[in-house]
Amino acid sequence: MAFNLKEFKRFEKQIILKKVGISGQKKIKKAKVLVIGMGGLGCPLLTYLASSGVNNIGIVDHDKIELGNLNRQILFNTSDLGKYKVNQAKLKIKKIYNQIKIKTFKIKISKKNIKTILNEYGIICDGTDNFDTRLLINDYCKKNRKILISAAINKFDGHLFKFNFKKKIPCFRCFMPQQPIQEVNCDEEGIFPPVAGILGSLQANEVLKTILDLKDDLNGNILIFDSLKMSIRKSKIQINPNCKNICKN
Ligand SMILES: [Zn+2]
Repeated sequence: MAFNLKEFKRFEKQIILKKVGISGQKKIKKAKVLVIGMGGLGCPLLTYLASSGVNNIGIVDHDKIELGNLNRQILFNTSDLGKYKVNQAKLKIKKIYNQIKIKTFKIKISKKNIKTILNEYGIICDGTDNFDTRLLINDYCKKNRKILISAAINKFDGHLFKFNFKKKIPCFRCFMPQQPIQEVNCDEEGIFPPVAGILGSLQANEVLKTILDLKDDLNGNILIFDSLKMSIRKSKIQINPNCKNICKN
């Protein structure tokens, strides 16, 4: 895979980082990443992946853009109202870098379609606000040894997870086997807009580190961000011996 001068110029500021270099940039270009959910997390995540040079990206969302999305879904504006999120996101990303191949899936992930959608991607990013979908994605990624990078936001807080299922680690189901009584959903509970931006950016950070094979300290852990206290802490997820996915150390 060769780089032309224009590409070199575009990515120069990251290529000069020792831990990236030309070889790292080639890995970024080759990587295949799927972004599930084009909401508050998906918008910054997709933007950073695209502007960093990830050339093969899939995006999944079945929703249309509503006025109440615009406080945090920063790829969209007033003229996008009523249009499909995946279509508008693709248009905007193509303006950043028109070489990127973006595959859009205007569908809700289900047991029936999950294989067709996730199959070709090595890194799966979950930014959905639905607990059942989260478990479905977790179970598929675990079974097919994918890398899953998940984020969730609620009010002033955010959670970030990384599961590299090529290794023996706990899964999301170990952490939360059942739906919490009150489903955490930013539509109902509210969300402080920059928290979406911070967590989506942290997700992009982990995706790029994963592609570049850099430090893997988040694997099997949860990172908890509290924007009021301005604290970040990381905690190891414990294997649940009763996990349906038969997780082992
Ligand atoms: Zn498990």
